[in-house]
Amino acid sequence: RWTRVKGRLRTSVGEDVYTSWFARMDLEAVQDESVHLSVPTRFLKSWIQAHYADRVLTCWQAEMPEVHRIDLTVRTAMRCATPVKEAPAPSDQRRVERADGRPAPELRSTATAPVSASHDALGGSPLDPRLTFASFVIGRSNTLAHAAARQVAEGRRGDAVMFNPLYIHAGVGLGKTHLLQAVTWAGNSGSERKVLYLTAEKFMYGFVAALKTQTALAFKEALRGIDVLVIDDLQFLQGKSTQAEFCHTLNALIDAGRQVVIAADRPPSDLESLDDRVRSRLAGGLVVEMGSLGEELRLGILKSRVAAARAHHASFDVPEAVLDYLARTITHNGRDLEGAINRLLAHSKLNATPVTLEMAEREVRDLVRPQEPKRIKIEDIQRVVARQYNVSRSDLLSSRRTANVVRPRQVAMYLAKTLTLRSLPEIGRRFGGRDHTTVLHAVRKIEALVSKDVSLSEEVESLKRQLQE
Ligand code: ADP
Ligand code: MG
Repeated sequence: RWTRVKGRLRTSVGEDVYTSWFARMDLEAVQDESVHLSVPTRFLKSWIQAHYADRVLTCWQAEMPEVHRIDLTVRTAMRCATPVKEAPAPSDQRRVERADGRPAPELRSTATAPVSASHDALGGSPLDPRLTFASFVIGRSNTLAHAAARQVAEGRRGDAVMFNPLYIHAGVGLGKTHLLQAVTWAGNSGSERKVLYLTAEKFMYGFVAALKTQTALAFKEALRGIDVLVIDDLQFLQGKSTQAEFCHTLNALIDAGRQVVIAADRPPSDLESLDDRVRSRLAGGLVVEMGSLGEELRLGILKSRVAAARAHHASFDVPEAVLDYLARTITHNGRDLEGAINRLLAHSKLNATPVTLEMAEREVRDLVRPQEPKRIKIEDIQRVVARQYNVSRSDLLSSRRTANVVRPRQVAMYLAKTLTLRSLPEIGRRFGGRDHTTVLHAVRKIEALVSKDVSLSEEVESLKRQLQE
């Protein structure tokens, strides 16, 4: 019966809306006149109550006229703290269907996990129901990251893990969180694996809270009982003991063949506050960068946003010319694209006017920013400097002290300091493990020289231009 009700709901709201809001709704119980349903997040609950309460009731009544009430509750976190003894399912109502329609290999208990202290610490970070694979637009810059994420999401318990950890890095607004949440949604719906999505901050607070209540051991055990651990914004992981804990968790999970997925705004080698062992473990899996969004991809994202908005506001439409304009001018990041569509939607709703090019130009003016300056990498600096002075990159990193290597090395360190945000110790480390005072000396030396030596100053300027191109 539940399957039929879901079928009705799907027909009534359409496939997209259904997958966005109802795919994760479970039947808990039917009692006399009321039906008890559950969803995984508070956000989903309030959204469904605000927009679809009547629709859900109608669909039930079509199957069971005696139903007069729908109770919607939020399921406890992600059921990962303590292994839940699977109660024999009383009926086939609880069979979970996989996204592809095949029945799940195991019955999932809808019973609430026993509450334990570690459970609180382990509630995953909130998930946004819109961030799924279905709404993720694939383009040149994210093909590989997307394919790897898909592969990870589709894995089954016990599958050989192909790349571990999967480490995705990209600048802000380029889709990291979207991809990680898509992995989490996909992994959690219709598979027996336990997938936990945590921001690095949540991981930190979870661990610190567990330490305070002396449940740190339970926290660790619980973390290690997870099949797929997804950690977002790893660059925010701070603190010696949390890092040590993260390191242990990472090792324990990977050694046990569990999958770890990580996103950060920089490659592992640039995570300055992490220690070398963690860094090399992170770099030992698959590291994928997602580049900036190309125009085609931006257009795709805009279109998918418009389609999503139209599910609720059928009269909303954005002419092709406006989409082209937005895709051409908003080059910064995905968040601005989303913001632009939201503004057009709000404006056209509030004033009951159709979207025009003129309106778009006015409304999104402040989102049109000049191109972000390119992020320059230390490797690029070393490569360009080595080429310019006809030495090899390993010469620059070596301990050789001959004049033909010392000067280029100093120039490269100077450029690293002036063109990147890296600290002196970090730069030293990246130049063959030199001390930060050596880097400081080089920076001062070149600063002093360029103010006197015209040809050196020109050389440095030309190197800067090459790097910024
Ligand atoms: P990040 O975590 O890298 O800062 P987000 O994942 O939060 O970026 O993305 C920012 C916004 O851009 C979100 O609204 C997201 O849905 C959208 N976005 C980014 N990349 C894509 C994509 N490839 N397809 C669809 N939406 C995208
Ligand atoms: Mg993010």
